Formats: sequence, structure tokens, C-alpha cells
Amino acid sequence: MSERALRVAVVGSGPAGFYAAGHLLAADTPAEVDLIERLPTPWGLVRLGVAPDHPKIKAVSRAYEKIARQQGFRFLGNVGVGKDLEHSDLMQLYDAVIYSVGAQTDRSMGIPGEDLPGSWPATVFVAWYNGHPDYQDLSFDLSCERAVVIGNGNVAVDVARMLALTDEELQPTDTTEPAISAIVNSGIKEILMLGRRGPVQGAFTPPEVQELGELAGADICVEAAELKLDAASEAELAEAPAATARTVKLLREFAAREPTGKPRSLRLRFKVSPVAILGEGRVEAVEIVHNELAVDAKGRLRAVPTNKREVIECGAVFRSVGYLGVPLPGLPFDQNRHTLPNEAGRVIDDSGAPFPGVYCAGWIKRGPTGVIGTNKKDAVETVDLLLEDAAAGRLDRGLDPDAGQVDELLAERGVEVVTYPGWEAIDEIECAAGEPLGRPRVKLVTWDELRGTARGA
Ligand code: NAP
Repeated sequence: MSERALRVAVVGSGPAGFYAAGHLLAADTPAEVDLIERLPTPWGLVRLGVAPDHPKIKAVSRAYEKIARQQGFRFLGNVGVGKDLEHSDLMQLYDAVIYSVGAQTDRSMGIPGEDLPGSWPATVFVAWYNGHPDYQDLSFDLSCERAVVIGNGNVAVDVARMLALTDEELQPTDTTEPAISAIVNSGIKEILMLGRRGPVQGAFTPPEVQELGELAGADICVEAAELKLDAASEAELAEAPAATARTVKLLREFAAREPTGKPRSLRLRFKVSPVAILGEGRVEAVEIVHNELAVDAKGRLRAVPTNKREVIECGAVFRSVGYLGVPLPGLPFDQNRHTLPNEAGRVIDDSGAPFPGVYCAGWIKRGPTGVIGTNKKDAVETVDLLLEDAAAGRLDRGLDPDAGQVDELLAERGVEVVTYPGWEAIDEIECAAGEPLGRPRVKLVTWDELRGTARGA
């Protein structure tokens, strides 16, 4: 193998996949990387998850474009692993495979009424307003006066904020047209965000919380009583990182504000958990229970329900309680963590022994935590181990793969691969359509449009 370049397949073209590809191509060991992606478009959640009104965060894609221009990089879009190529194929076609497929589903809450029409996983709403081609046939009925967002993470904040944005705030973004129209013309007067623990334990971060207080069309509302801390939370706050203290300070500032009469309000409540989503045929209300906080066996403050319950009328519920990884065909799966079982990125079997040549990076490695940049360190850790294994001869399986072999197999199977120039054609058309409107892009949102445009390249 020392005579030829190391051939690596990276499966999933989100941040972790791009950082893995970039680190491989920057290494002293000559390498060729095929970045394999189910969708015709790269960038994963940077394109389809990051809120459209956060263009600065989306601009991280410039770094991925640089990686894509490097010698040895190929994008194989519109190729599903588990559909067009099996894991066993990859093991014949590449010296090593890095799975960076993210966490592709949402955590369920396990409460009655969770699946009533009008109750949505936040992940689905996010994919819809961002133009994910699998979610464009959905329609969100936002004619109700109150929408409830469950969860206190940054995705919950994104969803609550997006529901509150005005036409002027949405127009300069790449939110899809049906989503802009649904949000702007919605009947929503109150967006209610429910956290099961207290303000000190919120998973959201200060810049995101601060934005909630700066919306053109919605007043932020928090009752001072909601922010009253029990002794354990006071103690936690005293020891907490500066970001937590900053968040609590921001929330206290919000509580001191008077509503200014904006058309919508965004209300935050804490220490309440939904116990049921109620309605005849569709969402009409959520039933919540008030919680107290108690220290669990791990020393963490957890929510414990009291006897106090409340029913809150609403017409839409967005459950934002975290993403979950899904099992990959032909590979082991950690059912507790919903990740590929791994040691620092080397995928391992039940006995803890590494699967030679199989690695992971990003959310499928560590779970759905951290910001985009977290994936860089994570991917670098994985790739360094891969390179160490290559140098030690642990990737030698008597293969002599070249790029033509995978191309031939995909052609034999009738797979229409979207190459990087194909994606660049999509990108060009989208950006050109956005320019006269003052938007970064107008996304192509159907599989046919995306594949058709790439085909023309
Ligand atoms: P997250 O940060 O893990 O937050 C999940 C939230 O759901 C927590 O508040 C959690 O409360 C709550 N929750 C879980 N189970 C619940 C239940 N049964 N009932 C009520 N609440 C429940 O997840 P996320 O918001 O999906 O975000 C995923 C990752 O992406 C995070 O690292 C996030 O920071 C990142 N992200 C970043 C940005 C940004 O930087 N702007 C934007 C979006 C996402 P407990 O704490 O009590 O478990």
C-alpha cells in the first residue's frame, strides 16, 4: 500500500465529514477521499439544520469549499450507503471508511398524544423550513394562536425564534418561500417554550438566548417567579461556567422588561414537563406537570414531577428534546448512546476489539452535542488514529482499490452520482436566484430539480 495513495470513504458530508476529509488530505500520507452523501447537496446540517437567519454560522461552508478544491477530493452525492452501496462494498473499495452520518432522527417523549396531527418533532420543522428535499410535501397548520415548543436546547430556541420572525427578518434569509409565507401569515400570538428543569440547567447558550430579546415582532416574556432558584440551583450556578451565569443574567433582564405591544410574544417557562398532548383528531392543548429538582445518583439535578398539573390550549407543538443516531446496516450499534460503539473514533465490536478500517466522527461518534466547531477536533482525533493504523499496517487487507472501481459499481447499479461540479451547478443557480431578492440563495428543494440541475453540469 505504501506505493499508492490511501483510499478513504467518508460517509456523510456534514461538518464532521468535511473536517475528516480536510485533515486526511492535509496529512503527509498521500490520500484520496470520496465524500459519499445520500443527498445531491453537501454540508449536512450547515445547509439543512442551521437556522436560515444565522448566515454567519452558515458561512462556515466556505471552509468546506476550500477542502473540496484539494487534490484527491471527490464528492459522490445522491449515493445512499445501505441502498446504493453496502458497508461490505465499501470495505472492498476503500482502505478505510469513516462514518460521519450524524444523528438522523428525533428523541421520542413517550407521552400520550405525541403523534397527534399538529405535534411535530422540531427536527422535521427545521428540515422543512431549510428546504430539505425529503420534507417539502409537508404542510404546517400555524393558524392557531399559541404554539408550544418543548425543550430548552438551541434547536428549541431556533424553532421558537423562527416562528416569531417577521417578513422583514425572513426575506433576507434562505428560508423556503412556503415556510416564509406560513410563518408570516400564521395566527400565532404566543410562542411558549417549556423547559423541564430550571434556568440554570437550560441547554441553550447565551448568544442564542440574547437573540430572543431582540426580535422585531415578538416581546420576550418571563415571569420573575419562573426564575426563582432553589438552593441546589443556587449552588450549581455559583460553580457553573461563565456562560450559564450569562444566560441566567439575560433571563433576569428579560423578566424585568414590560411587553412593548409587539404582535407576538415569546414566553419562557421552566420546571414544567408535558405529560400528554391533548385533542380530538389534532392538537388542542398540552397537559403539563410542575416539577421540582432533585439530585440524582450521578449528582445531577433532575426534574421530579409534583402533583400540580395544568392544561394549556395550543394548536401546534414542536418537540425539541434532542436528536438520535440510527443504526447502520452491517455495523454494531450502541443502543444506549445511539452511536456507533467506538473508542475515540475507532469503531469497536461487543468485545471492545476494533473493526479494522472502520471509523466514525461527529454526532454518530459522540452523540448530538456541541457546536459545528466541536466536530473539527472530533474528526481530527479520528483521522489521526486512522493514519496511525495505516502507518502500522493495520489497514492492509490485500486490496488494490482505485477510484474507477466505485464509479463502475455505481454505474452498473444505475446510480446517478452527483459530483462536485454537479453540486456547483446547483449552488450557482441557487445563488443567482437569490441575488435579485437580496437573499444568499433560493434553494432548489425537490430531488428532481436538484438532480436535474446537477445532470446539466
Ligand atoms: P440539546 O442541547 O441536547 O437540548 C435538548 C433539550 O431537550 C434539553 O433542554 C433537555 O432537557 C430537553 N429534554 C430532553 N428530554 C426531554 C423531555 N422528555 N421532556 C422535556 N424536555 C426534554 O439538543 P438540541 O437542542 O437538539 O441541540 C443539539 C446540539 O446542537 C446541541 O449541542 C446544540 O447546542 C447544537 N445547536 C447549536 C446551535 C447554535 O449554536 N446556534 C443551534 C442549534 C443546535 P434536559 O437538559 O433536562 O435533559
